[in-house]
Amino acid sequence: YAIESGVNSYMVHSKDLSLDTYKRISLDRDLFKAVKEGQFELKFQPIVEADRNMVVGAEALIRWNHPEWGLLSPDEFLNLAEMNGLIADIDNWVLEEVCRNLDLWRRQKVPLVPISVNRSAKSFLQFDTLERMITPLRTYNVDPSLINFELTESSFVENSDRVAEVIAQLGEKGFRIALDDFGTGFSSLFHLKEFQVQTLKIDREFIGSLLDGPENMAITNAIIQMAQDLDLKVTAEGVEEPVALRWLQERGCDYIQGYIYSKPVSAENIRKIFAKRVLKPVYAGGQLVVEN
Ligand code: C2E
Ligand code: MG
Ligand code: MG
Ligand code: MG
Repeated sequence: YAIESGVNSYMVHSKDLSLDTYKRISLDRDLFKAVKEGQFELKFQPIVEADRNMVVGAEALIRWNHPEWGLLSPDEFLNLAEMNGLIADIDNWVLEEVCRNLDLWRRQKVPLVPISVNRSAKSFLQFDTLERMITPLRTYNVDPSLINFELTESSFVENSDRVAEVIAQLGEKGFRIALDDFGTGFSSLFHLKEFQVQTLKIDREFIGSLLDGPENMAITNAIIQMAQDLDLKVTAEGVEEPVALRWLQERGCDYIQGYIYSKPVSAENIRKIFAKRVLKPVYAGGQLVVEN
């Protein structure tokens, strides 16, 4: 942290940075305990078919229920976990928790849809990665087609051969793979050819301000078009506005994920959404269909 906060910037923003630095140090220290004691929980955000409002999946998103700091979002602790090596343990916990929920929902006779599970490059490239990914599915008798791993393309630039190999092995077992944050990496098009993925997720960066200027529309349009030509599915992430939804529907975007349908919700509430199967779009800032 010393490098990041530096003496000069520390003096300029001393108040903010001292709290920020204190928080980061304390979180880094607490993370080991959090993993051991299981202080994490999952939220689930529905993924909806653009043309029919049908719920076809959900993304599992981790939160840390910290005893002092409260519910923390992944942006506040996953980079620490990347640095101190705990990310693999965390990602493995997430997969196990997703499988546990799928098993539970099956017993409750809820119609099952694939759950998207984020996986960092470090977890994905563990030496025993296949075994790590298959074991929880065996434990809970979950079919691999119910797991959709999301990989952030930009984080795999260095080990792309090994990544392509693991993706191919997972594909043979029936897992699905999506390229997350698509459009923000530096070698997206090259990796598209190398990686046997089924879905592209257009980054929120483009979708959030889609209609503010011609650039984001042009890029999004190009990604949708390319996905269709390559026979890939495409998901738009971060859709909040009805006009953006309509624009994406008109261009044949397959799936929508965003506050316009629902924020990430608890396991209990996503179960209700799965049981209903359909979600109506609501204005961002308006009343949510199911509360967080
Ligand atoms: P992501 O995989 O790109 O997930 C989408 C993020 O966009 C989520 O943030 C979600 O809450 C947010 N989002 C979705 N729709 C909207 C919208 O309409 N408006 C706005 N403002 N935001 C929206 P979240 O949950 O904070 O997660 C952030 C990132 O943390 C994720 O980005 C993912 O890269 C990472 N992450 C989350 N859970 C895990 C995990 O279990 N393992 C790993 N390795 N990474 C994770
Ligand atoms: Mg994701
Ligand atoms: Mg994303
Ligand atoms: Mg993201």
